[in-house]
Amino acid sequence: MVLSCDFHLHSAFSADSEAPMEKQVQAALKAGLSAICFTEHIDLDWPYENTPKEELSSPFTVDMASYEKELLRLRDRYGDRIRIGMGIELGLAKGYEEAAEDFVRAHDELDFVIGSVHSLDHKDPYFADFFSGFSPRERIAAYLSHTWELVERCSFFQSLGHLDYILRYAIKQEDPEFLSYLASHGTSYGSFCFSQNQHAIEKILSILIKRGQALEVNTQAIAKATAADPADPAVFRETNPGRDTLLLYHALGGKLVTTGSDAHVPEGVGKGFPEAAKLLASCGFPTTFRYEHREPVAVPLR
Ligand SMILES: [Zn+2]
Ligand SMILES: [Zn+2]
Repeated sequence: MVLSCDFHLHSAFSADSEAPMEKQVQAALKAGLSAICFTEHIDLDWPYENTPKEELSSPFTVDMASYEKELLRLRDRYGDRIRIGMGIELGLAKGYEEAAEDFVRAHDELDFVIGSVHSLDHKDPYFADFFSGFSPRERIAAYLSHTWELVERCSFFQSLGHLDYILRYAIKQEDPEFLSYLASHGTSYGSFCFSQNQHAIEKILSILIKRGQALEVNTQAIAKATAADPADPAVFRETNPGRDTLLLYHALGGKLVTTGSDAHVPEGVGKGFPEAAKLLASCGFPTTFRYEHREPVAVPLR
């Protein structure tokens, strides 16, 4: 089983990547991909209360004209070997729903928009102080109900990015409750959190299905975990989301799945795809989807 489309990719047009776009395209060719889509970061609610001072100089916005110019140059150069889509990863945030929708409407050159929740209470889970004063369980539950509310309000994106993104960081809190569960059940963090938040997750999935919006399977954590100690329980090494959510999505009638490595460096492009392909096939998904002019195109798992 092989996945051939990487529809979550960053380059130096994103605040948190230094990878030249051309290097990302070359990495995708090397990985044998047939279609990619750049999804540069735009977070209208950035900076957050806990964004460190030294990071304030790189805003999460994109110079759209330069981005398009470079993308067209690369399409011209590599277009006979690989499809290159133009997309964005747009932060979903309370109070910014209309601004986000206006942005999407004003940029019809975009093939694909990922909607991602990168903040809660105007704080970024990436930084450890996000968890201060809360248990990981409380923060995860709050993040997922916040995502539910935002998905309900936002219909302008094509695929929901890394649904349980917060797990990448919550696991670092070394929650004793999870560690004892892990020791006795030997199961994943994704499964553990799914069992506590199934209601909110089901609501999110149902809205996506009803509206024809896709669910993303994001493999970034798998790629990053390859460099980590395999026995370290504080490292998240699963897809976002994982098996339980995908099985529920399938059971609810969900078909639209997009796949992305969320790579910010060339080494990450297409990483974790063999694992994700196996997972998707075992959950009953025969195809994934790429997008062109915001319309889904089926790509069978091969
Ligand atoms: Zn993201
Ligand atoms: Zn991303």
